[in-house]
Amino acid sequence: MAPSSTPTHRIAVIGGDGIGPEVTAEAIRVVQAAGVQLELTDFDLGGSRYLRDGEILSDETLERLRGFDAILLGAVGTPEVPPGVIERGLLLKMRFELDLYVNQRPFVGTAPGSTVAHDFVVIRENTEGPYVGEGGVLRKGTVHEVATQGSVNTWMGAERACRYAFELAMTRRRHVTLVHKTNVLTFAGDLWQRAFHAVAAEFPQVATAYNHVDAACIYFVQDPQRYDVIVTDNLFGDILTDLGGAVSGGIGLASSANLNPARTGPSMFEPVHGSAPDIVGTGKANPTAAVLSAALMVDFLGEGAAAERIRAACAADPGTGTTRQIGGRLAAAVAG
Ligand code: ATP
Repeated sequence: MAPSSTPTHRIAVIGGDGIGPEVTAEAIRVVQAAGVQLELTDFDLGGSRYLRDGEILSDETLERLRGFDAILLGAVGTPEVPPGVIERGLLLKMRFELDLYVNQRPFVGTAPGSTVAHDFVVIRENTEGPYVGEGGVLRKGTVHEVATQGSVNTWMGAERACRYAFELAMTRRRHVTLVHKTNVLTFAGDLWQRAFHAVAAEFPQVATAYNHVDAACIYFVQDPQRYDVIVTDNLFGDILTDLGGAVSGGIGLASSANLNPARTGPSMFEPVHGSAPDIVGTGKANPTAAVLSAALMVDFLGEGAAAERIRAACAADPGTGTTRQIGGRLAAAVAG
């Protein structure tokens, strides 16, 4: 039995499709090697499960997930299932139902052509903006077709995302940048700016900045060292984080956390990459993104020292070899 100083965390594991189960197995191996006690329960969800019996994420399964401390997800989606079905039915449903209102993505690396390392985090609002499905279509299929897709922004949504960003900045270099397009998106931009400044007033130790999203794209490539914590809305965050991954070592390293900082339910942790059906079973999948996502989970579960050891091992690893070889090296490194 584990000593009382090392609590056992109850984790729901959704390996998913393609390389998802391969990289998740390595992530778990590394976390356990770091001395973190896990009680694991597998959930068979994703494209393959949907093709077998039609379940994407039933209300009953969702209720079971609510009882865990965290959810660790590999990747979901198969080429046989039309795009959007699993994303909406599983990933977006979890985000909305479990109120995973913060998407946190760390970026550490050296941008192509640069010699200076960067280390910043994007906090993306995860439940609002154009992703809520507001809008509709009229006269579809005719030359008079009209489609609208509204962007929903609430004070509560913007305020709580900003608050999380400032709280995180207090544990880092104490700088938060708001990214939006306030000069054109005047209604949503105004709400975000006021929410940002209202929260900033509570954190006088934290310096602030503002970038339009188009300028931020340039800085991501040319001067990412300027950033510590960035907070932005759902759509800008979706796009900016792909760019962040591209200047920080690529898809094999990009990790993410979908957080419910209020802790009214479990948070969910997943690598940014997809199920990569082109390399499944070949051993070519780099598990580092999954391992780093698991490090975010370990951090959120209150085991900061173990998370730091996992991150340090990933930073020192050459990233070469098979999925199992990389996982094995990382496990050996964190075990000391
Ligand atoms: P999705 O829409 O689910 O994101 P996708 O096909 O657009 O799917 P990925 O599944 O992430 O995106 O794959 C994109 C490319 O990156 C593929 O060539 C894949 O082999 C490669 N890739 C993805 N993840 C990894 C990884 N962990 N290690 C190595 N290569 C990867």
